[in-house]
Amino acid sequence: MQIKSIRGFNDILPDKIKRWHHIESTAKEILELYGFSEIRTPVIEFTDIFARSLGTTTDIVEKEMYTFTDRDGSSLTLRPEGTAGVVRAYIEHALYSISPIWKLYYMGMMFRHERPQKGRYRGFYQIGAELFGSKDPFSDAEVITMLWRFFEAIGISNYLTLEISSIGDDRCRPLYRSKLIEFFSSRKDTLCRDCLRRLQQNPIRILDCKQEGCKQLTQDAPSILDNLCKECSEHFESVQKNLQNIGINFAINPRIVRGLDYYTRTVFEVTTKELGAQNAVGAGGRYDKLVEELGGPPTPAIGFAIGMERVVLLHEKAFPEDFKKQVDVFIAYIGSEAKKKAFLIADQLRRNSIATELDYEDRSLKSQLKRADKLGARFTIIIGEDELKQDKVKLRNMKESTEEEIKFEDIFPKLKNTCSHLSNTTSDFHRNQKAL
Ligand code: ATP
Ligand code: MG
Repeated sequence: MQIKSIRGFNDILPDKIKRWHHIESTAKEILELYGFSEIRTPVIEFTDIFARSLGTTTDIVEKEMYTFTDRDGSSLTLRPEGTAGVVRAYIEHALYSISPIWKLYYMGMMFRHERPQKGRYRGFYQIGAELFGSKDPFSDAEVITMLWRFFEAIGISNYLTLEISSIGDDRCRPLYRSKLIEFFSSRKDTLCRDCLRRLQQNPIRILDCKQEGCKQLTQDAPSILDNLCKECSEHFESVQKNLQNIGINFAINPRIVRGLDYYTRTVFEVTTKELGAQNAVGAGGRYDKLVEELGGPPTPAIGFAIGMERVVLLHEKAFPEDFKKQVDVFIAYIGSEAKKKAFLIADQLRRNSIATELDYEDRSLKSQLKRADKLGARFTIIIGEDELKQDKVKLRNMKESTEEEIKFEDIFPKLKNTCSHLSNTTSDFHRNQKAL
């Protein structure tokens, strides 16, 4: 039997990883600029944490979770999203007693049992951010702005649309809920099976149904935005103004429901038309009740999660050229003495942040140079017997096809300004900035 990976779980091979690194490091850079710090929580939690925070009638909890019984009988679940675990950690470590405001971000793998297709997998990566301790609409605007600035920085914002809405709070939502029940109850024959169930349990989620009949029906349903209480309405107005003031474009879409029960007030989604049915690239919202519901003190909060695979697909579209690993220098040698010298030089260069590669298979000069070419080395150092005798090497500039002889001790001073890994990352970053 041939071994293989589990359906819906992907390997990310080295030819793709440079792009991932670039996107992740840009995200880190931006999140840190906005004052967010990384938090790493386990990929597995007690099932109850997800059931209680996401809501038992959500798609994720109903049918997408990887849940199993541990040896001691407790029910565990591979995390389907990041917020619940971060909130659990926030409460468990009483972070609120250390500082009134916490800005946290995470990057990591999430698990959902869905039908795999392009941009939808069973194991996938998210980058997420959570801001605890502020209910001010400036915080909503800050978090949404940060999300958008990230998409701008990696050069994919042209493919994206930002939509926002408010889903009210526990003062105005119950009333809206009963209006919806009234509306849909008199139109039951048009609703799909799932929505008939939603009508009893969670009628707001009917607005999110993908079935044509239900979609048509929701056109005339009462809008949450006409049913917000005064406080929620003012909050939403203010979020919009704050975004407008700094030039963030958005559309208002009152049908944004979000799959999870924990949201209050502001909700938002970033979507694309480029990825077929997988149109959501990132989404989030305010969740002012969740910390309290999970046993912490009342703490307003807002956050989002971005789907990495979908971002990568859009990034490949925007920048189709390869994001290759950069080799600065390849060292070719002839003979065993030269090989020792090559090994020594490689060590010196690598210790000075110059990415260096060489073969140990004693192949012909021709095939070593071929490999240098394949790796895209910017320089090749050639050490033959003659060079060795004179304490010299040949230094070939591969791009300009020029060659010179230099002394051993001049190799590093000569290369240090042209090659270094730090400058590679920055130049990637600037290249994308220019492409905006
Ligand atoms: P969708 O409507 O596509 O199922 P969702 O509303 O379930 O998305 P969220 O729970 O908001 O998604 O997760 C945030 C982001 O994570 C999504 O916008 C998407 O980019 C990504 N994402 C969600 N599910 C998957 C998946 N199964 N595979 C890959 N990315 C995903
Ligand atoms: Mg989903």
